[in-house]
Amino acid sequence: MRIIIFGPPGAGKGTQARLLEERRGLTQISTGDIIRTAMKRETPIGKEAKAYVEQGELVPDTVVRKLAEQAIADEAYDDFVLDGYPRTIQQAEWLTEFLTEHDTPLHAVVSLQVPDEVIVDRLSKRRIHKETGDTYHLDLDPPPDDVDPSLIVQRPDDQPATIRNRLSVYREQTAPLEAYYQERDVYYAVDGVGDIEAIYTRITTTLDDIPTAAGA
Ligand code: ADP
Ligand code: ADP
Repeated sequence: MRIIIFGPPGAGKGTQARLLEERRGLTQISTGDIIRTAMKRETPIGKEAKAYVEQGELVPDTVVRKLAEQAIADEAYDDFVLDGYPRTIQQAEWLTEFLTEHDTPLHAVVSLQVPDEVIVDRLSKRRIHKETGDTYHLDLDPPPDDVDPSLIVQRPDDQPATIRNRLSVYREQTAPLEAYYQERDVYYAVDGVGDIEAIYTRITTTLDDIPTAAGA
């Protein structure tokens, strides 16, 4: 099955994509994770991306396109969940073209609906494991006791001023993709408020109801 998990920063895309990977065998393709790894390794792409990411701006389309297409090709164009890609209309158009060329169209774009106040809480309390990239929330999904606390850090782009910028970038550049996918009949809105398991069940119920994806 080929899906996108869509929503504003902090909507829970990564959390749900990881569950879909563990339980449904879909590979999570997170352009954010790929970019952060490149930054950590100080590759040419990582160096180019750094200033954009730190200010909460989008990395240029041409750069992210290459990363996303390579990751999809690595999965033989199937059984993936795209997390954080596409984020602009240009990226969405390239993705449609790319998947059409390989005769592997999307089955669903699952859009997590989460109000702004919940998002700000989730992002400001998000913590990540420096080495594994595992994501936690200070109150609602805290790191287990056996994890070394010195490895649990806040992402620099989860500071309040950067969060505000990321939300406005989302509204201006990414939210228009909802209409783009609605027009293509692959758009499914899912309530993203509630506990992680309840949301996961909503997502899988939605996916199981898609006739074209039966058995995929
Ligand atoms: P979040 O999970 O909070 O939505 P991500 O980890 O997906 O954030 O992305 C972190 C940052 O990486 C973004 O703010 C942006 O700078 C960059 N990035 C990730 N995906 C894309 C993309 N598809 N297009 C442009 N920039 C991207
Ligand atoms: P995204 O990838 O969309 O930016 P994440 O999956 O990283 O979002 O989640 C953002 C923050 O919210 C993390 O701290 C995560 O632990 C927390 N979180 C995710 N889903 C839920 C939920 N259903 N309820 C409460 N907190 C959540």
